[in-house]
Amino acid sequence: MTTFDLAGVTKTYPGAQPVEALRGVDLRIGPGEFLAVEGPSGSGKSTLLNILALLDAQTSGTYRLDGRDVASLGERERARLRGETFGFVFQGFHLMDHRTVVDNVELGMLYAGVPADERRLRALEALDRVGLSETAHRRASDLSGGQRQRVAIARALSVGSGTIVADEPTGNLDTATSESVLELLTDLHRTGTTVVLVTHSPEIAARAQRRLVVRDGLVVTDTGGVGAGAAEGVGTATTAVAGLDLLLAGPSPEATGPAGGEDRRRARHRVGFRTVVRDAAASVASRRGRTATLAASVAVGVALALTTVGLSASAQAQVSERFDARLNRAVTLTMPLAAAEAGLPVVVDGTAPGVPGEAVARLADLPGVDAAALVSRNGMMTVALPGEAASVPDAFLLGVGDGIDHAAELGVDWAGGTPGPLGDGEVLLGRAIADRLGLGPLSARPQVVLDGRSFVVRGIVDQGYRVTNVIQAVLVPVDVAAALRPAAEHEVYVFTATGAAQQVAAQAPLVLRPSTPEAFTIVAPPDPRGLRGEIENDVRTILLVLTGVAILASVVSLTSAMTMSVLERSREIGMRRAIGAQARHVSRLVMTEAALVGVVGGVAGAATGVAALLAITIARRWTPVLDLGHVPVAVAGGVVVGVLGGVAASLRARRIQPSEALRV
Ligand code: ADP
Ligand code: MG
Repeated sequence: MTTFDLAGVTKTYPGAQPVEALRGVDLRIGPGEFLAVEGPSGSGKSTLLNILALLDAQTSGTYRLDGRDVASLGERERARLRGETFGFVFQGFHLMDHRTVVDNVELGMLYAGVPADERRLRALEALDRVGLSETAHRRASDLSGGQRQRVAIARALSVGSGTIVADEPTGNLDTATSESVLELLTDLHRTGTTVVLVTHSPEIAARAQRRLVVRDGLVVTDTGGVGAGAAEGVGTATTAVAGLDLLLAGPSPEATGPAGGEDRRRARHRVGFRTVVRDAAASVASRRGRTATLAASVAVGVALALTTVGLSASAQAQVSERFDARLNRAVTLTMPLAAAEAGLPVVVDGTAPGVPGEAVARLADLPGVDAAALVSRNGMMTVALPGEAASVPDAFLLGVGDGIDHAAELGVDWAGGTPGPLGDGEVLLGRAIADRLGLGPLSARPQVVLDGRSFVVRGIVDQGYRVTNVIQAVLVPVDVAAALRPAAEHEVYVFTATGAAQQVAAQAPLVLRPSTPEAFTIVAPPDPRGLRGEIENDVRTILLVLTGVAILASVVSLTSAMTMSVLERSREIGMRRAIGAQARHVSRLVMTEAALVGVVGGVAGAATGVAALLAITIARRWTPVLDLGHVPVAVAGGVVVGVLGGVAASLRARRIQPSEALRV
């Protein structure tokens, strides 16, 4: 049992107008006393009680607890000593309304490191003691005021600390229920517990064995000295009342001697990981609505991130498919004929320079080749309308082989809509030449004149990004072009099967001119993997930035929601501190709750993300690319968001002062 010794204790609340709540209190309370502190409202009773119970520190004077000056104690030591020495009962009950009665009682022992089984056992025993066994598994908020205060008393006495401090415990109760609470306190005193009861009511104070009257921060009356109840109290503590043995057996450090006591205190004060998780889980589960709201802010971020990453994969596949379908299939081989004529070793096999027509046909039959066609560049010439109605002097003359529109990916507007090989007396005109000539509609079968010879216009070339100047050209069959002007260059255009471009580019020169493959300049797409990778990287970078923004938004909104939630729970947190939780225990609880919210949000977000991804890709007729490995990563991401979002709240929770939070 414990002795409390205050000498010259003052308390001044700082502020613009400092309040001298206590102005020099000398008080000694011995083991087993039943002391009532009475006085009008504002006289300093609660302040005195808070200092006595280590919830607040005095401004000056000394306070010795069992002879030890408490001013020398650090935060952890104070919390430990507070939890071990006192059981708390407040006017406002301070129960966790959403949790069960037995959970509330167990909370009293949580920070004393009592093992889970024993906590449950002792809690039920304490509930039995206050006559509430029946209600153990109901929600605390379902109970009446009197019952709630008895739960608070059960919580206070379950710890087995030798001292109960009660600040206006009947302040919120009617006369009849007040009576049952007072009887309980009297009973506790009878079994050896020290009781300090704060009340503004003289009738209630009259129930105590010793009365202390406080007025304006000073003790004006004290009816009894130290130790009045000590002898009797200690004697009966563990023996008199059957059933309370377990309750009163635990905490008294003197019982094991100073050294053993210290070790034991340490061991008892450890709060295990499982205990924290269970406590946090119960807390999260007890407030479904709030948890759902908090988890939703995590889920939004996780879902966005997952959708973005998933869409990125699907979009990449889409980009790559299109990429393969186009650029990746074009191979062009160029052979300058003028250079060959100038004596370069292009022709060593005795044949004429350039690409023979049948060689192109062989190339077109090669596996992996969809189409191949020859283009010769035969200088420039004048294109005129019949009767010199209009003329263009600088048209490029191109000779083209069959299937050039397919092989060189030309966009051709064919007369009558029917494509086909060019006949001897037929031309294709580049769009620019046709426009400059003011050519009439194709349906009128317009004609043009080249070197005095008439040709029928079979079509207009609108597009052709691969063939240089094709829009500025007049296209005729290769041999017709050769008859008009000598060819200066041969070009072979190849359109390959998807992914075959590299291989075709390697084989084509050998097929075209087996003896002099080196005579060609070859333009093939860059290694598709490289270029594709670059595009994919760009897409990925953009989407990763978006993901980061989504996650950040989640963390920010969770931070504010969690902080609000912690402030709303400041009484519960204050109560936990009173019961012996250290600041770090409180932050650990908040962080664990945040992580659990993160798990819930992560799972919900992953589900939403997958659903959104499927919906979007199906709507766009893409192939959804879903990496199932992303799902656990998303859930883990939820936990990270939860933990990050909980940091500010946990720092805020640490700063909650129990003496402030517990004022009604
Ligand atoms: P009682 O419990 O007897 O009603 P209190 O101990 O609560 O009295 O308060 C004593 C005086 O100190 C009152 O004037 C009260 O307004 C003032 N007081 C209490 N707490 C604070 C505080 N945190 N800051 C400033 N003044 C306070
Ligand atoms: Mg008060």
